[in-house]
Amino acid sequence: LLFLISIPFLKDTVEIQINSKSDYIKLSKLGIELDHYRTNTLVHAYATDKEINILKNNGFVVNKIINQAYQYYMQLKQNERNPLGEYHNYNELTDFLNSIANTYPNITSLESIGQSVQGRELWVIRITDNPMIDEPEPQFKYIANMHGDETPGRELSLYLIEWLCANYNVDNRATDLVNNTDIFIMPSMNPDGFELGSRFNANGVDLNRDFPDQYNDINNTITGREPETQAVMNWSNNHNFTLAANMHSGALVVNYPFDGPQSNLYSACPDDDLFINLSLIYANAHSDILSGGFQNGITNGAEWYALYGGMQDWNYIWTNNLEITLEQSITKWPNENTLDDLWNDNKESMIAYIEQIHKGVKGLVTNATSRQALSAMITISEIDKPILNHSNF
Ligand code: ZN
Repeated sequence: LLFLISIPFLKDTVEIQINSKSDYIKLSKLGIELDHYRTNTLVHAYATDKEINILKNNGFVVNKIINQAYQYYMQLKQNERNPLGEYHNYNELTDFLNSIANTYPNITSLESIGQSVQGRELWVIRITDNPMIDEPEPQFKYIANMHGDETPGRELSLYLIEWLCANYNVDNRATDLVNNTDIFIMPSMNPDGFELGSRFNANGVDLNRDFPDQYNDINNTITGREPETQAVMNWSNNHNFTLAANMHSGALVVNYPFDGPQSNLYSACPDDDLFINLSLIYANAHSDILSGGFQNGITNGAEWYALYGGMQDWNYIWTNNLEITLEQSITKWPNENTLDDLWNDNKESMIAYIEQIHKGVKGLVTNATSRQALSAMITISEIDKPILNHSNF
């Protein structure tokens, strides 16, 4: 049994001592997969025995450490009342979403955008007025739990879903958002990883390294990618998302593109100013993120640590969607009794961030006489990133 359980964990969680910033560049050249957790003297990473030897041969001090998230996961699994305590396991998550869809049929629509490696549905709930019609409203998405053992975002998604639905026609802010925005929330991109207590999917792949990449993997096709990645790519390509965030844990910071090419080197995308502003909206309403060790609670991805095949860069480059990465909790699997507080810490940020989709210029591109929708390439002077609109309406 132990052997079976250990299959998804071919890599151990390790702690690597850091002497200087250039060590991070060395680590990325060695291809070591770094975790979100890092300080000036320590970084957590995932490594095979072979990689641990390579690290040692390169002069690094490496120690295997206990994986806190996995430890708490095992503790919850032993609880007979409910295998995952107050966390929603896959069945409970499915029940929760079905119950929301049944209670609020006029403003929600529940769909599965595909199946995980182990056949679990990849649920997405759409929250908007007239959810069965594509209205000319901006489309927003939140994705959580792409790293299976990063659990707060998964639960925060459920709190947000409930808040939006229960407050429709009760609270002005919720009502305005639902009436004027096409909101999509995916509480778990990696349901297998959650059930296994693992960062990776059931094939042992890190989904946030599995997307096309502007430096390393420029073919924007789904071929050869994991089923969860394929599902998100197809779904994103079939929509017109313009603003998004994906939720992680292991640090307290808001991270924006680009994520590559080199660690400790700021890698600005053409919309750098806009990304900084968007990131500050989230950070400024979150006192723990503001004091989480990063200037103003935000960081450029590469300047923190470089990675390839991440989801946020793919969204920006290939789908015209501005996506940022939220690190919402240092602890990846915090005690269940802290979830209410976590929601209170993130609630204002999560709501205010969606509201940003209504800032700036928006409109419809149509034929002047027939009013027929047109495809158009839209450019803004001094920003080297043309935007292709969506002509499906
Ligand atoms: Zn993560």
